[in-house]
Amino acid sequence: MTSDLNLTRQECDARGDQLKVRTYRVELDLSEAATDAETYRSRSTVVFDSTGTSTWIDLVTDVIDSVTVNGRQVHLEDYDGARILLHDLEIGENTVVVDALCKYSRTGEGLHRFTDPEDGNTYLYTHCEPTDARRMFACFEQPDLKGQFTFVVTAPSQWLVRSNQPEVSSEPAGECTTHTFAPTPPLSSYIVALIAGPYAVVQDTWSVKRADGSSQTIELTAMCRRGMLEHLESDEIFYTTKAGLDFYDRAYGFPYPWGGSSYAAPAKDRSEGRAENFVGCKYDQVFVPEYNIGAMENPGLVTFTEDYLFRGGATTMQRTSRAAVILHEMAHMWFGDLVTPKWWDDLWLKESFADLMGYQVTQEATRFDQAWLQFASGRKLWAYTYDQLPSTHPVIARIEDLEAAAQNFDGITYSKGAAVLRQLQAIIGPESFFAGARDYFAAHAFGSATFNDLLTALQPHTEHDLWRWADAWLRTTSPSELTADTSRGHGGAVTELVVRQRCTDRITGDEVVRPHQLQVAGYALGEAGLERTFLAPVTLTGESVEVPEAVGNRADLVLVNAGDLTYGIGRLDEQSQHVASTHLSSITDDLDRGAVWTALWNLTRDARIPASRFVDTFCTQAPAESNAMILRIVAGQVQTAVGHFLPAGTRTAAWDALGGVARVAIAGAEPESDLQRTWADLLAEFASQTDTLAGDAAALADGKVPDGLTLTDELRWKLAASLVRQGAWDEAEVQHLLEQDNTLIGRTSSLTALAAAPQAQDETWRRLVEDELTNDAQRALLTGWGISDPGTKYAQPYVELLDSVWGDRVQSMAQRLVIGLFPDVDADDEGRAALGAIRSWYDDNPGSPAALRRIVLEQIDHAERALRAQQVTQD
Ligand SMILES: [Zn+2]
Repeated sequence: MTSDLNLTRQECDARGDQLKVRTYRVELDLSEAATDAETYRSRSTVVFDSTGTSTWIDLVTDVIDSVTVNGRQVHLEDYDGARILLHDLEIGENTVVVDALCKYSRTGEGLHRFTDPEDGNTYLYTHCEPTDARRMFACFEQPDLKGQFTFVVTAPSQWLVRSNQPEVSSEPAGECTTHTFAPTPPLSSYIVALIAGPYAVVQDTWSVKRADGSSQTIELTAMCRRGMLEHLESDEIFYTTKAGLDFYDRAYGFPYPWGGSSYAAPAKDRSEGRAENFVGCKYDQVFVPEYNIGAMENPGLVTFTEDYLFRGGATTMQRTSRAAVILHEMAHMWFGDLVTPKWWDDLWLKESFADLMGYQVTQEATRFDQAWLQFASGRKLWAYTYDQLPSTHPVIARIEDLEAAAQNFDGITYSKGAAVLRQLQAIIGPESFFAGARDYFAAHAFGSATFNDLLTALQPHTEHDLWRWADAWLRTTSPSELTADTSRGHGGAVTELVVRQRCTDRITGDEVVRPHQLQVAGYALGEAGLERTFLAPVTLTGESVEVPEAVGNRADLVLVNAGDLTYGIGRLDEQSQHVASTHLSSITDDLDRGAVWTALWNLTRDARIPASRFVDTFCTQAPAESNAMILRIVAGQVQTAVGHFLPAGTRTAAWDALGGVARVAIAGAEPESDLQRTWADLLAEFASQTDTLAGDAAALADGKVPDGLTLTDELRWKLAASLVRQGAWDEAEVQHLLEQDNTLIGRTSSLTALAAAPQAQDETWRRLVEDELTNDAQRALLTGWGISDPGTKYAQPYVELLDSVWGDRVQSMAQRLVIGLFPDVDADDEGRAALGAIRSWYDDNPGSPAALRRIVLEQIDHAERALRAQQVTQD
């Protein structure tokens, strides 16, 4: 059966106008889940009002047993595998009952099932965004059609079963138990959630007494599969969770409303924001394996990838990431769940806010005080990269259908949107920002809203014209290039400094001028290296502005956008570039030092300086880098620089040089420090590309580690992949390691290690293209594939794959293949031919799915960028 899984904005708009959903009762029979049964029974009873006589309800399955509308059987001849057409509806209230068999998922969509090889336990969890609730039960799958869901789930009696709301009753059903959950407040289908299995649970509570005399207590849990319990670190997770609840409770002025045992229907006098309406609330957080994304904001039951649990300890960077994602998801309890974007056009309204909040609240309310650094040096590069692609789009995008929506969970929607909102706070002040947010929640609680609703809420709190601000920032594309044109006089003192912006919108071709609130800093070379001589605030509303505060100060290096307040690519002038290349590591301010690294990296990516200069800078400056987060980020960049941006003939020497740097650095790193861990990771990564590290890598893998370094399983697997890539290890050694770490993660890691062998490429290709893989197995094989360095050998099969890849798989699986198998090209005949063949496929197939075309076009652009960089050689 070929079903059209896509939904268009137009038809959902019409359905949204026609229907008002009241309630869902969703009965799922998971009693056979621990066997090899492929399906489970799903019965969905939907009560809704209609102003028209026909519509459709969404359900993706192969087997529907019956559908009734108001008690009358519906004939199903025209069911296409995705939409059940409903005719002869009453004007007014209707009840539809759909009885079907639905499939357990192995690719992360809908109801995912996995079995832990360590103990044989089976676990289930759901993931529904954007539209995979319809793989579990029949529903109207669009965000503005909110309903009150009652879940009734039958599962093995010894299992833990949890959903958005707490359980209100349970009854024995043979070997099993039937759990009934409290009805949800009005909820979009993309955020319903369920977990079932012998999950391990740790509990805590959070409570608040507010100035207005009200109080609230929320039950907290942290959960994971039993095999990971020793790595759960629930103390730290609860610490972050409570810090977040404290912050949001104060800042948003609307009590956390989810997971309550009872829900009072909202009155129209805005009393829904009163604390007494939300009693018995809970906030569950569960860490699950084989998860497609980082985390999902299901109200009352947030799901996270298990990658946020660290076997054998973690760096500050990893802990900061986890805190930021916990606080990102928590922000969604308001931005997204309480007030939901009407359609995916306003996806950014929830993601940009949540992303900003994740970093801001981590920085301001927790002990993880490097969140802004991570945002500036790491997260924002995702935005700059996407914003330079031919597929870039305004933050406010027009999204015509679901496939397009799925593509827009990207660097623009998350990171650029967040950066732009940070800039908005710099302009209007955080007080006004949060005051507007409070009005927005009060006005739209449990409903859906658009961007205009948000601006309407914010505007009364500021003198600035937000509609104009929004036109400049949210309806244009491409990052502004920010420069500080500096004239220097006697002794290097600044005689004139002009900050300029330049931006050509990649989509419209228009020149864009944006209002920026930023800072510019000057650094002078002294005894102790680079020292800051001035930090000046700059309000840039036109193309340029003078900075009189800079005049008279020495500035060997001028850094535009110091403190990272605005969104734009900060450029270094020639002199600053050279000073940076030789003295960068002496800047003591982490944010500024990170910004200088970022500036050098952007110059490299944009083919303004030869990649060799970035590599040389890494080799001289990285060993003195004191911040492991910066080191980790820059080390990723240098690997891209060597692997893709350097001319092919110079790479071996560069890898060897990196190898030498890592060998010395790891030996000198302070025991048990983040730097030591990070250098060990880097040595393991570099060892995949240079045989000069084979001995070092083998010794580490063997347990001969420097004092204070823990040989974690993750490090051993990373070393294993590199050793296999270099031919130093074969299957027997991998097998041996697997015996010592025969876990879910160990098994997946062994797939990567074995696929890293160049001689495994044919078999890896075959498995990736032909086998029915789980999402995790696919990712693992693709990682190994990348390490094995296939070059352009598979360019022709790749072009052939493009014809069929989209139709045969769920979108996330297809997408990973299109990205992961795209050939690495060099600036030689072979590389150009490979790229030419893919470009021809793109030109010759205008009718192929738009989402597929977008990804292919992006990969072509990345490859062309690499070719440009490879041609900048003179220094
Ligand atoms: Zn999010």
